[in-house]
Amino acid sequence: MSLLRDRLDQIAARGLYRRRRVIGRARPGVRAVEAVVDGRECLTFCSNDYLGLAQHPLVTEAFVRSARAHGVGSGASHLVTGHHAEHHELEDALATFTGRPRALLFSTGYMANLGIASALLSPDDAVFEDQLNHASLLDAGRLRGARFHRYPHGDAAALDGQMEGDNAAVRLVMTDGVFSMDGDLAPLPGLAACCRRHGAWLVVDDAHGLGVCGATGRGSLEYWGLAVGDVPVLMGTLGKAFGTFGAFVAGSDDLIELLIQRARSYIYTTALPPAVAAAARAALRLAETEPWRRERVLANAALFRRLAAAAGLAIGDSVTPIQPVLLGDPRAAVAASDALLERGLLVTAIRPPTVPEGTSRLRVTLSAEHTTAEVERLVETLRNCLPEGSDPCSA
Ligand code: PMP
Repeated sequence: MSLLRDRLDQIAARGLYRRRRVIGRARPGVRAVEAVVDGRECLTFCSNDYLGLAQHPLVTEAFVRSARAHGVGSGASHLVTGHHAEHHELEDALATFTGRPRALLFSTGYMANLGIASALLSPDDAVFEDQLNHASLLDAGRLRGARFHRYPHGDAAALDGQMEGDNAAVRLVMTDGVFSMDGDLAPLPGLAACCRRHGAWLVVDDAHGLGVCGATGRGSLEYWGLAVGDVPVLMGTLGKAFGTFGAFVAGSDDLIELLIQRARSYIYTTALPPAVAAAARAALRLAETEPWRRERVLANAALFRRLAAAAGLAIGDSVTPIQPVLLGDPRAAVAASDALLERGLLVTAIRPPTVPEGTSRLRVTLSAEHTTAEVERLVETLRNCLPEGSDPCSA
């Protein structure tokens, strides 16, 4: 047991100890950004519910109606008896939404990424990943023992050089579409061109782009004007802009069939509750029919950037709802988060290994539900809470 205690002590000594906060809703009917955190009411600026759909009455109603009709549990994996009509209809809706022949539901985004790698890679193959990719993509890339390369953040030329040096028959390039801790967009046109040149497959995890980026919220592929052929494998999640839970991969008929045959994290797990799929379909419909949500969250992000820059805060280079405020030291990030909470604002501190050493930060996320006055209050409070003249990392 002292081994476990020693390990915990080491984590704490480095300022990296993680604690969970218990979140509740202040009162029925209030906005999702008004939460009760460890028993006290506060305003949250760190959820991924960008469009404000997680507690939307129509989404909740779809969930409840489906649960009344079908019960809660799906009862089995998709390949046994767990694949319900609700799942099938959501897959069709996601295929239509992404403009792809088919989509396949996974229980989580983490599992979708593992599934892609387990279906497409073998130990003779090579995988190339952005240095700032989400942990689930990194774990996926290492899953099958393929040669593992990481290229400098957003650097298509460096990727090209790495691909010159590895002539594996199957080469997979995996990237976030919008980087989860920095909010910047991957340079997808350059990555797609590189993949075309080398006959490689591009996999885009658009967990944070779908519903938010692009003229109609189709995500970072729409933002960059890329065709299905440029990005044969698109992964998306339902727990962020679409306010519910689960994930999907969209692509060709053959891709989806291969995932059904080979993706272990698809085959060997219980299917999502059908009611979750029903709720996700309602959320998808709202995301499509209420473009003001996307416009509002992007306007909030732009307002935050403008005010934060004027206040001299060390923000990143992001036009999306993810707006990091860099602090560098993990203890400084936790202290800032605690000070904000004291003042009724919840913004989580993000530390290694989620982000590289020396780049600890507050990860501010905006929602369509925030008002202008609330964004102003956040920046004003940040200005008062952050150490004067703090010298954040340069990342
Ligand atoms: N990819 C990215 C880029 C993410 O940010 C996340 C969630 N943080 C995931 C995948 C995992 O998705 P899920 O939460 O559905 O497992």
